[in-house]
Amino acid sequence: MVPERCSISVKGRACTLPPSLIVSIISGDEEYMIGLVCSDHVMLMKTKALSMQNSGKIGMGKIKFQEIKPVMTDCVLNQKNMDHDSNCLQE
Ligand SMILES: [Zn+2]
Repeated sequence: MVPERCSISVKGRACTLPPSLIVSIISGDEEYMIGLVCSDHVMLMKTKALSMQNSGKIGMGKIKFQEIKPVMTDCVLNQKNMDHDSNCLQE
């Protein structure tokens, strides 16, 4: 399940803005998502991800920010293809 909010908390309060970017770690051939972030918190997320890497909470690798595409279009296309349904974020 994908959260529908930004993953960042500031001073204990979760950000309630809708996310606009997917944050993932690219390690070798693998890429895995670590969270979602709104456009306001991109830099904060980058800092947080780096410190999580340094403390070993997440794997090392390149931190990638990818814009969340409009879900409708991708889901419809992918349901026909069945090849790349990983792009479809809604369950
Ligand atoms: Zn945020």
